[in-house]
Amino acid sequence: MAFVFSIKVQLTHDHSFIECHLTPNPGGDTPALVFSEKMDSSGKPSTAQVLLLTTSSALTAVFYSVYRRRTTTVARLKGAKRVSIDQDLKNILTAAPGKCVPYAVIEGVVRSVKETLNSQFVDNCKGVIERLTLKEKKMVWNRTTHLWNESEKVIHQRTNTVPFDLASHDMAMAATIRVIRPLDSSELDLETTYENFHPTVQSLTNVIGHFISGERPKGIHETEEMLRLGESVTGVGELVLDNNLVKLQPPKQGLRYFLSRLDYDSLVEKQQSSVRVWRVLTAVFGVVASTTLLFILWKQWVYHRQRRKEKNVLEEFKEHQRKRMRELNVEETSVSPSACTVCLSRERSCVFLECGHVCACDRCYQALPEPKKCPICRATIERVVPLYNS
Ligand SMILES: [Zn+2]
Ligand SMILES: [Zn+2]
Repeated sequence: MAFVFSIKVQLTHDHSFIECHLTPNPGGDTPALVFSEKMDSSGKPSTAQVLLLTTSSALTAVFYSVYRRRTTTVARLKGAKRVSIDQDLKNILTAAPGKCVPYAVIEGVVRSVKETLNSQFVDNCKGVIERLTLKEKKMVWNRTTHLWNESEKVIHQRTNTVPFDLASHDMAMAATIRVIRPLDSSELDLETTYENFHPTVQSLTNVIGHFISGERPKGIHETEEMLRLGESVTGVGELVLDNNLVKLQPPKQGLRYFLSRLDYDSLVEKQQSSVRVWRVLTAVFGVVASTTLLFILWKQWVYHRQRRKEKNVLEEFKEHQRKRMRELNVEETSVSPSACTVCLSRERSCVFLECGHVCACDRCYQALPEPKKCPICRATIERVVPLYNS
Protein backbone atom coordinates (compact mmCIF):
# COMPACT_ATOMS: atom_id res chain seq x y z
CA MET A 1 0.00 0.00 0.00
CA ALA A 2 1.44 3.29 -1.09
CA PHE A 3 0.36 6.69 -2.27
CA VAL A 4 1.58 9.66 -4.17
CA PHE A 5 0.63 12.77 -2.36
CA SER A 6 0.46 16.19 -3.95
CA ILE A 7 -0.11 19.41 -2.09
CA LYS A 8 -1.20 22.82 -3.39
CA VAL A 9 -1.16 25.90 -1.23
CA GLN A 10 -3.10 28.95 -2.38
CA LEU A 11 -2.84 32.23 -0.51
CA THR A 12 -5.16 35.11 -1.42
CA HIS A 13 -5.96 38.32 0.42
CA ASP A 14 -9.30 37.07 1.79
CA HIS A 15 -8.73 33.39 2.39
CA SER A 16 -6.12 30.75 2.02
CA PHE A 17 -6.45 27.02 1.59
CA ILE A 18 -4.36 23.95 1.20
CA GLU A 19 -5.44 21.36 -1.32
CA CYS A 20 -4.15 17.84 -1.09
CA HIS A 21 -4.47 14.79 -3.31
CA LEU A 22 -3.77 11.28 -2.18
CA THR A 23 -3.57 8.72 -4.97
CA PRO A 24 -2.44 5.10 -4.77
CA ASN A 25 1.09 4.46 -5.96
CA PRO A 26 1.53 0.73 -6.61
CA GLY A 27 5.30 0.97 -7.05
CA GLY A 28 6.02 2.67 -3.74
CA ASP A 29 6.30 1.28 -0.29
CA THR A 30 4.79 3.69 2.21
CA PRO A 31 2.61 6.72 1.89
CA ALA A 32 4.97 9.64 2.11
CA LEU A 33 5.31 13.17 0.96
CA VAL A 34 8.55 13.56 -0.86
CA PHE A 35 9.95 17.06 -0.62
CA SER A 36 12.56 18.39 -2.95
CA GLU A 37 15.10 18.75 -0.16
CA LYS A 38 14.95 15.00 0.27
CA MET A 39 15.90 14.59 -3.39
CA ASP A 40 19.05 16.67 -2.91
CA SER A 41 20.44 14.39 -0.23
CA SER A 42 20.89 11.50 -2.67
CA GLY A 43 24.36 10.04 -2.24
CA LYS A 44 25.56 11.05 -5.71
CA PRO A 45 28.39 13.64 -5.88
CA SER A 46 27.51 16.94 -7.54
CA THR A 47 28.86 17.94 -10.96
CA ALA A 48 31.08 20.57 -9.31
CA GLN A 49 32.61 17.92 -7.02
CA VAL A 50 33.22 15.51 -9.91
CA LEU A 51 34.75 18.35 -11.93
CA LEU A 52 36.99 19.38 -9.03
CA LEU A 53 38.08 15.78 -8.48
CA THR A 54 38.94 15.10 -12.12
CA THR A 55 40.67 18.45 -12.69
CA SER A 56 42.76 18.29 -9.54
CA SER A 57 43.69 14.62 -10.15
CA ALA A 58 44.72 15.37 -13.74
CA LEU A 59 46.78 18.40 -12.69
CA THR A 60 48.41 16.39 -9.88
CA ALA A 61 49.44 13.73 -12.41
CA VAL A 62 50.81 16.34 -14.86
CA PHE A 63 52.71 18.25 -12.16
CA TYR A 64 54.06 15.02 -10.70
CA SER A 65 55.43 13.90 -14.06
CA VAL A 66 57.11 17.31 -14.58
CA TYR A 67 58.50 17.10 -11.03
CA ARG A 68 59.90 13.61 -11.68
CA ARG A 69 61.47 14.75 -14.94
CA ARG A 70 63.05 17.77 -13.28
CA THR A 71 64.35 15.64 -10.40
CA THR A 72 66.02 13.31 -12.92
CA THR A 73 67.51 16.33 -14.75
CA VAL A 74 69.02 17.66 -11.50
CA ALA A 75 70.40 14.24 -10.52
CA ARG A 76 72.02 13.83 -13.97
CA LEU A 77 73.34 17.39 -13.90
CA LYS A 78 74.95 16.71 -10.53
CA GLY A 79 76.37 13.45 -11.85
CA ALA A 80 77.89 15.05 -14.98
CA LYS A 81 81.68 14.84 -15.27
CA ARG A 82 83.47 18.16 -14.82
CA VAL A 83 86.10 18.65 -17.48
CA SER A 84 88.49 21.59 -17.54
CA ILE A 85 89.78 23.14 -20.74
CA ASP A 86 93.52 22.42 -20.64
CA GLN A 87 96.21 20.46 -22.48
CA ASP A 88 94.96 17.17 -20.92
CA LEU A 89 91.58 17.55 -22.62
CA LYS A 90 92.46 15.63 -25.77
CA ASN A 91 94.28 12.92 -23.82
CA ILE A 92 91.22 12.38 -21.60
CA LEU A 93 88.98 12.07 -24.66
CA THR A 94 91.40 9.79 -26.55
CA ALA A 95 91.43 7.43 -23.55
CA ALA A 96 87.63 7.54 -23.13
CA PRO A 97 85.49 4.82 -24.81
CA GLY A 98 84.40 6.09 -28.24
CA LYS A 99 86.49 9.23 -27.64
CA CYS A 100 83.46 10.60 -25.90
CA VAL A 101 82.29 11.77 -22.44
CA PRO A 102 78.47 11.28 -22.58
CA TYR A 103 77.64 14.08 -20.13
CA ALA A 104 80.29 16.66 -19.31
CA VAL A 105 80.35 20.09 -17.66
CA ILE A 106 82.55 22.73 -19.26
CA GLU A 107 83.16 26.23 -17.96
CA GLY A 108 84.87 28.63 -20.34
CA VAL A 109 84.78 31.94 -22.18
CA VAL A 110 83.25 32.60 -25.59
CA ARG A 111 85.76 32.96 -28.40
CA SER A 112 84.95 33.41 -32.07
CA VAL A 113 86.23 30.95 -34.68
CA LYS A 114 86.41 33.09 -37.81
CA GLU A 115 83.70 35.72 -38.16
CA THR A 116 81.83 37.61 -35.45
CA LEU A 117 78.46 39.31 -35.31
CA ASN A 118 78.32 43.04 -34.68
CA SER A 119 75.53 44.65 -32.75
CA GLN A 120 73.23 46.65 -35.03
CA PHE A 121 72.74 49.31 -32.38
CA VAL A 122 75.83 49.43 -30.13
CA ASP A 123 79.33 50.26 -31.38
CA ASN A 124 82.16 47.81 -30.65
CA CYS A 125 79.76 45.19 -29.38
CA LYS A 126 80.71 41.84 -30.86
CA GLY A 127 79.18 38.45 -30.27
CA VAL A 128 78.42 35.00 -31.65
CA ILE A 129 74.65 34.83 -31.17
CA GLU A 130 72.35 37.75 -31.93
CA ARG A 131 68.58 37.71 -31.48
CA LEU A 132 66.32 40.51 -32.68
CA THR A 133 62.78 40.56 -31.34
CA LEU A 134 59.81 42.79 -32.11
CA LYS A 135 56.96 42.59 -29.64
CA GLU A 136 53.63 44.32 -30.02
CA LYS A 137 52.30 45.63 -26.72
CA LYS A 138 48.64 46.40 -26.30
CA MET A 139 45.97 46.82 -23.69
CA VAL A 140 43.08 44.36 -23.89
CA TRP A 141 39.73 44.96 -22.25
CA ASN A 142 38.75 42.07 -20.00
CA ARG A 143 34.98 41.69 -20.10
CA THR A 144 34.91 39.68 -16.86
CA THR A 145 37.04 41.87 -14.60
CA HIS A 146 36.23 45.12 -16.46
CA LEU A 147 39.89 46.15 -16.50
CA TRP A 148 42.44 46.92 -19.21
CA ASN A 149 45.14 44.21 -19.10
CA GLU A 150 48.52 44.51 -20.74
CA SER A 151 49.27 41.87 -23.34
CA GLU A 152 52.24 41.34 -25.62
CA LYS A 153 52.80 39.27 -28.74
CA VAL A 154 56.02 38.45 -30.57
CA ILE A 155 55.48 39.67 -34.12
CA HIS A 156 58.97 39.04 -35.40
CA GLN A 157 62.06 37.20 -34.18
CA ARG A 158 65.33 36.43 -35.90
CA THR A 159 68.38 34.69 -34.45
CA ASN A 160 71.79 34.82 -36.11
CA THR A 161 74.66 32.59 -35.07
CA VAL A 162 78.25 32.01 -36.09
CA PRO A 163 80.40 29.04 -35.00
CA PHE A 164 82.15 29.66 -31.68
CA ASP A 165 84.47 28.00 -29.16
CA LEU A 166 84.71 27.87 -25.42
CA ALA A 167 88.25 28.63 -24.28
CA SER A 168 89.96 28.51 -20.91
CA HIS A 169 89.83 31.54 -18.62
CA ASP A 170 93.60 31.27 -18.72
CA MET A 171 94.52 33.16 -21.92
CA ALA A 172 97.77 31.20 -22.31
CA MET A 173 95.91 27.91 -22.73
CA ALA A 174 95.43 27.07 -26.41
CA ALA A 175 92.85 24.27 -26.02
CA THR A 176 89.29 25.09 -27.12
CA ILE A 177 85.95 23.34 -27.42
CA ARG A 178 83.63 23.94 -30.37
CA VAL A 179 79.98 24.45 -29.35
CA ILE A 180 77.60 22.62 -31.72
CA ARG A 181 73.90 23.66 -32.16
CA PRO A 182 73.85 26.20 -29.34
CA LEU A 183 70.20 27.09 -30.04
CA ASP A 184 69.11 23.55 -29.06
CA SER A 185 70.21 24.19 -25.48
CA SER A 186 67.94 25.24 -22.65
CA GLU A 187 68.56 28.07 -20.20
CA LEU A 188 70.47 30.17 -22.71
CA ASP A 189 69.66 33.64 -21.42
CA LEU A 190 71.26 36.17 -23.72
CA GLU A 191 72.38 39.62 -22.65
CA THR A 192 70.09 42.47 -23.71
CA THR A 193 72.31 44.88 -25.63
CA TYR A 194 69.61 47.20 -26.92
CA GLU A 195 65.94 47.91 -26.34
CA ASN A 196 63.63 50.58 -27.58
CA PHE A 197 59.92 51.28 -27.37
CA HIS A 198 58.08 52.87 -30.29
CA PRO A 199 54.73 54.14 -28.98
CA THR A 200 51.70 54.09 -31.28
CA VAL A 201 50.47 57.53 -32.34
CA GLN A 202 46.87 57.91 -31.19
CA SER A 203 44.25 60.07 -32.86
CA LEU A 204 40.79 60.77 -31.45
CA THR A 205 38.98 58.53 -33.95
CA ASN A 206 41.44 55.72 -33.14
CA VAL A 207 40.75 56.05 -29.43
CA ILE A 208 36.98 55.74 -29.99
CA GLY A 209 37.59 52.71 -32.23
CA HIS A 210 39.73 51.10 -29.51
CA PHE A 211 36.99 51.47 -26.93
CA ILE A 212 34.57 49.75 -29.26
CA SER A 213 36.94 46.90 -30.23
CA GLY A 214 38.31 46.48 -26.68
CA GLU A 215 41.94 46.56 -27.89
CA ARG A 216 44.23 49.54 -27.52
CA PRO A 217 47.73 49.25 -29.06
CA LYS A 218 50.53 50.75 -26.95
CA GLY A 219 53.47 50.34 -29.28
CA ILE A 220 56.26 48.12 -30.50
CA HIS A 221 59.04 46.91 -28.19
CA GLU A 222 62.27 46.20 -30.02
CA THR A 223 65.13 44.28 -28.38
CA GLU A 224 68.52 42.99 -29.38
CA GLU A 225 70.08 40.23 -27.28
CA MET A 226 73.56 38.81 -27.75
CA LEU A 227 76.01 36.26 -26.50
CA ARG A 228 79.09 38.44 -26.49
CA LEU A 229 82.73 37.54 -26.97
CA GLY A 230 84.59 36.94 -23.69
CA GLU A 231 81.35 35.99 -21.86
CA SER A 232 81.69 33.20 -19.25
CA VAL A 233 79.50 30.27 -20.22
CA THR A 234 78.75 26.91 -18.62
CA GLY A 235 78.01 24.14 -21.10
CA VAL A 236 76.62 20.72 -20.19
CA GLY A 237 76.42 18.13 -22.93
CA GLU A 238 78.23 15.38 -24.81
CA LEU A 239 81.93 15.97 -25.33
CA VAL A 240 83.53 14.22 -28.34
CA LEU A 241 86.87 14.23 -30.06
CA ASP A 242 86.21 14.38 -33.79
CA ASN A 243 89.18 14.73 -36.18
CA ASN A 244 91.34 16.56 -33.67
CA LEU A 245 88.43 18.92 -32.88
CA VAL A 246 86.81 18.78 -29.44
CA LYS A 247 83.07 19.31 -29.69
CA LEU A 248 80.33 19.99 -27.14
CA GLN A 249 77.03 18.81 -28.59
CA PRO A 250 73.47 17.89 -27.51
CA PRO A 251 73.69 14.70 -25.40
CA LYS A 252 71.89 11.43 -26.13
CA GLN A 253 69.48 9.29 -24.04
CA GLY A 254 67.13 12.09 -23.09
CA LEU A 255 69.76 14.11 -21.24
CA ARG A 256 69.31 17.87 -21.32
CA TYR A 257 71.69 20.18 -23.15
CA PHE A 258 72.57 23.30 -21.19
CA LEU A 259 74.31 26.51 -22.16
CA SER A 260 74.10 29.20 -19.53
CA ARG A 261 75.77 32.41 -18.49
CA LEU A 262 75.44 31.18 -14.87
CA ASP A 263 78.27 29.20 -13.27
CA TYR A 264 77.75 25.47 -12.70
CA ASP A 265 76.66 25.75 -9.04
CA SER A 266 74.10 28.50 -9.81
CA LEU A 267 72.80 26.44 -12.72
CA VAL A 268 72.27 23.42 -10.44
CA GLU A 269 70.64 25.65 -7.80
CA LYS A 270 68.28 27.15 -10.39
CA GLN A 271 67.19 23.67 -11.53
CA GLN A 272 66.70 22.60 -7.91
CA SER A 273 64.47 25.55 -7.13
CA SER A 274 62.32 24.68 -10.14
CA VAL A 275 62.06 21.11 -8.75
CA ARG A 276 60.79 22.62 -5.45
CA VAL A 277 58.13 24.66 -7.28
CA TRP A 278 56.79 21.56 -9.07
CA ARG A 279 56.90 19.57 -5.82
CA VAL A 280 54.81 22.22 -4.02
CA LEU A 281 52.32 22.36 -6.93
CA THR A 282 52.04 18.55 -6.93
CA ALA A 283 51.48 18.52 -3.16
CA VAL A 284 48.84 21.29 -3.22
CA PHE A 285 46.81 19.72 -6.03
CA GLY A 286 47.30 16.25 -4.52
CA VAL A 287 45.79 17.47 -1.26
CA VAL A 288 42.85 19.07 -3.12
CA ALA A 289 42.22 15.84 -5.09
CA SER A 290 42.40 13.54 -2.06
CA THR A 291 40.27 15.86 0.10
CA THR A 292 37.60 15.97 -2.60
CA LEU A 293 37.70 12.19 -2.95
CA LEU A 294 37.44 11.68 0.82
CA PHE A 295 34.54 14.15 0.99
CA ILE A 296 32.64 12.33 -1.79
CA LEU A 297 33.25 8.94 -0.13
CA TRP A 298 32.18 10.32 3.25
CA LYS A 299 28.94 11.68 1.74
CA GLN A 300 28.23 8.29 0.15
CA TRP A 301 28.83 6.53 3.45
CA VAL A 302 26.55 8.94 5.34
CA TYR A 303 23.85 8.48 2.70
CA HIS A 304 23.98 4.67 2.82
CA ARG A 305 24.02 4.64 6.61
CA GLN A 306 20.92 6.85 6.61
CA ARG A 307 19.16 4.60 4.10
CA ARG A 308 19.97 1.52 6.18
CA LYS A 309 18.60 3.21 9.29
CA GLU A 310 15.39 4.20 7.50
CA LYS A 311 14.95 0.66 6.21
CA ASN A 312 15.37 -0.81 9.70
CA VAL A 313 12.85 1.61 11.17
CA LEU A 314 10.36 0.73 8.42
CA GLU A 315 10.83 -3.02 8.97
CA GLU A 316 10.24 -2.53 12.67
CA PHE A 317 7.10 -0.53 11.93
CA LYS A 318 5.71 -3.23 9.63
CA GLU A 319 6.41 -5.92 12.21
CA HIS A 320 4.63 -3.86 14.83
CA GLN A 321 1.73 -3.34 12.42
CA ARG A 322 1.36 -7.09 11.81
CA LYS A 323 1.42 -7.69 15.57
CA ARG A 324 -1.37 -5.18 16.07
CA MET A 325 -3.46 -6.81 13.32
CA ARG A 326 -3.09 -10.17 15.05
CA GLU A 327 -4.05 -8.62 18.41
CA LEU A 328 -7.13 -6.94 16.93
CA ASN A 329 -7.94 -10.08 14.97
CA VAL A 330 -8.10 -8.19 11.65
CA GLU A 331 -7.23 -9.70 8.29
CA GLU A 332 -4.50 -7.79 6.43
CA THR A 333 -6.67 -7.72 3.31
CA SER A 334 -9.69 -6.28 5.11
CA VAL A 335 -7.78 -3.14 6.08
CA SER A 336 -8.31 -0.27 3.62
CA PRO A 337 -5.07 0.95 2.00
CA SER A 338 -5.85 4.45 3.17
CA ALA A 339 -6.68 3.42 6.74
CA CYS A 340 -4.82 4.99 9.67
CA THR A 341 -1.83 2.84 10.56
CA VAL A 342 -2.51 3.22 14.29
CA CYS A 343 -6.22 2.42 14.66
CA LEU A 344 -6.47 0.58 11.32
CA SER A 345 -10.06 1.80 10.92
CA ARG A 346 -10.42 5.54 10.31
CA GLU A 347 -9.08 7.28 7.16
CA ARG A 348 -5.66 8.94 7.33
CA SER A 349 -6.25 12.63 7.75
CA CYS A 350 -3.02 14.47 8.49
CA VAL A 351 0.46 15.06 7.11
CA PHE A 352 3.37 15.07 9.56
CA LEU A 353 6.10 17.55 8.86
CA GLU A 354 9.02 17.64 8.31
CA CYS A 355 9.13 13.90 7.48
CA GLY A 356 6.06 14.16 5.24
CA HIS A 357 4.42 10.87 6.23
CA VAL A 358 0.65 10.53 5.80
CA CYS A 359 -0.08 7.62 8.14
CA ALA A 360 -2.54 8.51 10.88
CA CYS A 361 -5.96 9.91 11.59
CA ASP A 362 -6.38 13.10 13.54
CA ARG A 363 -7.61 11.30 16.66
CA CYS A 364 -4.67 8.92 16.77
CA TYR A 365 -2.35 11.89 16.25
CA GLN A 366 -3.92 13.64 19.27
CA ALA A 367 -3.42 10.44 21.27
CA LEU A 368 0.30 10.17 20.50
CA PRO A 369 2.42 10.58 23.63
CA GLU A 370 4.45 13.80 24.00
CA PRO A 371 6.88 14.60 22.41
CA LYS A 372 4.91 13.50 19.37
CA LYS A 373 6.83 11.32 16.95
CA CYS A 374 5.90 9.95 13.53
CA PRO A 375 4.83 6.28 13.94
CA ILE A 376 6.66 5.30 10.77
CA CYS A 377 10.02 7.03 10.93
CA ARG A 378 10.08 8.31 14.54
CA ALA A 379 10.99 11.82 13.42
CA THR A 380 9.73 14.52 15.76
CA ILE A 381 6.50 16.03 14.40
CA GLU A 382 7.03 19.76 14.14
CA ARG A 383 3.81 20.65 12.31
CA VAL A 384 0.66 18.87 11.22
CA VAL A 385 -1.23 19.78 8.08
CA PRO A 386 -4.84 18.52 7.90
CA LEU A 387 -5.58 16.48 4.83
CA TYR A 388 -8.71 16.94 2.70
CA ASN A 389 -9.34 14.17 0.22
CA SER A 390 -10.98 15.37 -2.91
ZN1 LIG B 1 -6.22 6.28 13.82
ZN1 LIG C 1 7.59 9.99 9.34
